[in-house]
Amino acid sequence: MRPPFVTFSRNVFIPLTNVCRNKCAYCGFRRDIGHPEAKLLSLAEVEDILSRGARAGCSEALFTFGERPEEVEGFKEWLLELGHETIVDYLAELCRLSLGIGLLPHSNPGILGKYELEKLKPYNASMGLMLETVGIIEAHEGCAGKIPEARIKTIENAGELKIPFTTGILVGIGETWDDRVRSIQTIRDLHEKFGHIQEVIIQNFIPKTGTKMNSKPAPGINEMKETVSMARRILPDDVAIQVSPNLIHPKELVRCGASDLGGISPETIDYINPESPWPNITELQSMVDIPLRERLPIYPAYVKKKWYSSEIAPLIRTLSDAEGFRKTYK
Ligand code: SF4
Repeated sequence: MRPPFVTFSRNVFIPLTNVCRNKCAYCGFRRDIGHPEAKLLSLAEVEDILSRGARAGCSEALFTFGERPEEVEGFKEWLLELGHETIVDYLAELCRLSLGIGLLPHSNPGILGKYELEKLKPYNASMGLMLETVGIIEAHEGCAGKIPEARIKTIENAGELKIPFTTGILVGIGETWDDRVRSIQTIRDLHEKFGHIQEVIIQNFIPKTGTKMNSKPAPGINEMKETVSMARRILPDDVAIQVSPNLIHPKELVRCGASDLGGISPETIDYINPESPWPNITELQSMVDIPLRERLPIYPAYVKKKWYSSEIAPLIRTLSDAEGFRKTYK
């Protein structure tokens, strides 16, 4: 049954580093060390973004960045200069900073071991890792982090630790329809075992200038409608489907079963897709034919189940309403 509203969250996007051990053929975000745009944000830079987000009424700090950058030569020195041995330790410090400023962290650090998830869990309202695809595709050749089993293991570990989790698939990166169906079935199976998948992003590939896949066409609206409909048939009702309104018009996808429009930022761009600006909230409402409802990075069901730590609890109480959505923000 179609929900009476479609949800979104208000966030700031923090691209902690664009250094990454992988080299996905569609990625326009990654930079090699030595490139003038390669960076690791300092604590002061992150604090500035968080403070601007708090002033703009955001509830979420979205930390998205390259995977296991320490494996790239030269990165460790950058981290040591900031006083940290690992990116996970630095991230944990930044998540604590975020909580102090009043934003709930949602981190996407790539593949992590269970001990690393345990370090981050107390300071994250939710976490995420795109499964992307269970298919073996050319775009992921030579990427240690894109081995499907390794990604599934991270999602399993998050389930064992009861971390409210976001995952999803990328559509149009060279996977087959059968890969897509099996990816969604894999996510369903993980949720049936652990109950931790709060949302599944169905994200359409967008070709990026300067990448190997620059000339590959993006999937059209009909392909996205079929994919969202397939996912809605396979996934349990308590798992939301998210589409990205800066990458594709969401109206028809909501009619096919999408019920979330992801994070919308009044302060920061989508650093992974910088050519695709987010709509503001008024524009977002005009893109769908049912009301919007603001949520936190942790979904209401997990607020009610209290799947959060004592470190996060006070801020969740401050920001959530009686149903576990975002308290009305003027
Ligand atoms: S898409 Fe993500 S994992 Fe792949 S190279 Fe870019 S930053 Fe790294």
